[in-house]
Amino acid sequence: MTALTSIYNFNDLMKNIHHFVNGSTFEGRSKKTSDVYNPATGEVIGKVTLASRDDVNDAVDIAYKAFAGWSSTPPLQRARVLFRFKELIEKNSDELTKIIVSEHGKVFNDAKGSLTRGLEVVEFACGIPHLLKGEFTENVGRDVDSWSLRQPLGVCAGITPFNFPAMVPMWMFPVAIACGNTFVLKPSEKDPSCALMLAKLLKEAGLPDGVFNVVNGDKESVDALLENKKVSAISFVGSTAIAKYIYEGAAKNEKRVQALGGAKNHCVVMPDSDIDQAVSGLMGAAYGSAGERCMAQSVAVAVGNVGDELVQKISQQVEALKVGPGMDEKSEMGPLITKDHLEKVKSYVDIGVKEGAKLVVDGRNLKLQGYEKGFFMGGCLFDHVTDKMRIYKEEIFGPVLSVVRVKDFDSAVKLINDHEYGNGVSLYTRDGDSARTFVNKIQVGMVGINIPIPVPMAFHSFGGWKRSLFGDQHMHGMEGVRFYTKLKTVTSRWPSGIRTNPEFIMPTMK
Ligand code: NAD
Repeated sequence: MTALTSIYNFNDLMKNIHHFVNGSTFEGRSKKTSDVYNPATGEVIGKVTLASRDDVNDAVDIAYKAFAGWSSTPPLQRARVLFRFKELIEKNSDELTKIIVSEHGKVFNDAKGSLTRGLEVVEFACGIPHLLKGEFTENVGRDVDSWSLRQPLGVCAGITPFNFPAMVPMWMFPVAIACGNTFVLKPSEKDPSCALMLAKLLKEAGLPDGVFNVVNGDKESVDALLENKKVSAISFVGSTAIAKYIYEGAAKNEKRVQALGGAKNHCVVMPDSDIDQAVSGLMGAAYGSAGERCMAQSVAVAVGNVGDELVQKISQQVEALKVGPGMDEKSEMGPLITKDHLEKVKSYVDIGVKEGAKLVVDGRNLKLQGYEKGFFMGGCLFDHVTDKMRIYKEEIFGPVLSVVRVKDFDSAVKLINDHEYGNGVSLYTRDGDSARTFVNKIQVGMVGINIPIPVPMAFHSFGGWKRSLFGDQHMHGMEGVRFYTKLKTVTSRWPSGIRTNPEFIMPTMK
C-alpha cells in the first residue's frame, strides 16, 4: 500500500448514517437499517437508516414549504450559492473522493474523475440566469406581444444507483435547484455517505434549509416518493427493471419522469482502425471501475479479420491488470460493490462457459493477500460470443468483456441495433465514410468515434435510447433545464384607446 492510504482513516467514517433534512441531520422514526461495506476489506463500516414512508413524507413536506422562498429567489442569487458550492467541492474534493472509494471501492483517481464530471454540472448550472432567459416576440398581432418563460416545478426527487455516488446525483440536483426547485435525493443505500457530505457543503454554501434534502432508504422510500402528491417530478438512474417501475409509477401518479436504465455497450473495431488505440480504449472502458459503469463497454465487436489480433492484445493486458484496493495508487481496478454482486458476476462467467463461449482469461479465482475478504475478482475475457447467449444479451455489470466476431460493418450495425439496450457505443476506424454512416444509422443515444466512453459534457446532455431510458428528456445540459421547468407562454395587449368587439372566430394575425 502506498502514500494514499495514509491520508485516509477508516475510523473517520460515521458509523450510523442517517438522513439530512431541513439543513441538519435527521434520524427519522424508522429503526430499519442496512449494512454499508468497505468492498476492499469486506468489513461493515456503517449502518444506514432506511426511512419509513412517514420519514419520507416529512422530508417532502419540508421541501414543499421551502419551495415558495427558493423559487422566488432571483436566479442570479441562486447561481451565487452554486458558485460557492463549486468552490467547496474543489476544496473538499479529496475528502469526497475518499468517501466514494471507501464505500464503492473504485480506485482513487477514477473516483476523483467522476466527482469532477459532477462538478462540471454545477459549473453549467452556475449559468442559470442566462439559461432561463425566455423568448419574446414583439407584435405577434397588431399591438400584441408574446413571450415564453420557464418556471420551476416544485419538489423534485432523485433516486440514484450505487455506481456513481457523487456524479449521478450531481447530474440532477444542481440543475433542479438552479431552476428554482427544491429537491429530495434518495441515494443508493450501498454507498450513502457522499450524498450527505454534498448536502452539508450546500448548506455551507448558503443554500436555505429545506431546499436540498437527503433521505436514505430502500423500496419503501422510493414508493413513498412515487406516491406523494407533493412531488412533481422524479429523476431516476439505475437498472432497467426498476427504471420501468419508476416510469410507470410516476406516470400513474401524474408526475414528470426521466428514468435511465441499464446498458450493454458495444465497441466496434474496424479492420482499418488503429488496433492499439482500440485495445487501450477498450481496456479502460471494459475494466475501469470493475465494469460497474453504465457506459462500460462490455462487448467488443471485431469486424472482418481483426478478431485474432484484438483478442491476443486484449488478453495480454487483462492478464497484467493491477487489481487492488482503491486507495492503493498502483491499483487499476478495485473490488465489486458487494459479495452478492461479486457472486452474480462470477455466475455469469460460469453461464458463458456453459453456453460455449471461449473463456480466454478467467479472473474468477483471484485472491489478494491481506484482502481475502474483499469483493475482488480479476478481469475476464470471452471470445466467440454470439447474440444468442445470455452473457451477450444481459447486463453483467462487472469486469467481463465479450468479443463477438462479425463479417462486416453492416452486420456490426445490425447486431447493435437489434439489442434491447441503447446507452453508449463506439466505433474505431480511420474511415470517415464508415464513421459518418455509423453515426447516422446507429440506434444508440451516445456515440463515440475513436472515443471509448462517449459521456457527454455537462453542457450537452446524457441519456440512452431504447430500454436504457424511459422518458423524453436526457439529463443535464439544456435537456435538464427543460425537464426541471415548465413552459408558460403569455400573449399580452395593453389598452391604447381602441376597444374591440367580442370575436367568436379563432384569432389570426391581421
Ligand atoms: P438499482 O436499480 O438496483 O438501484 C437504483 C436505485 O433504485 C437505488 O436507489 C435503489 O435503492 C432503488 N431500488 C432498488 N430496488 C428497488 C425496488 N425494488 N423498488 C424501488 N426502488 C428500488 O441499480 P444499482 O444496482 O444501484 O445500479 C446499477 C444499475 O444502474 C445498472 O443497471 C447500471 O447500468 C445502471 N446505471 C445506469 C446509468 C444510466 O445513465 N443509464 C448510470 C448509472 C447506472
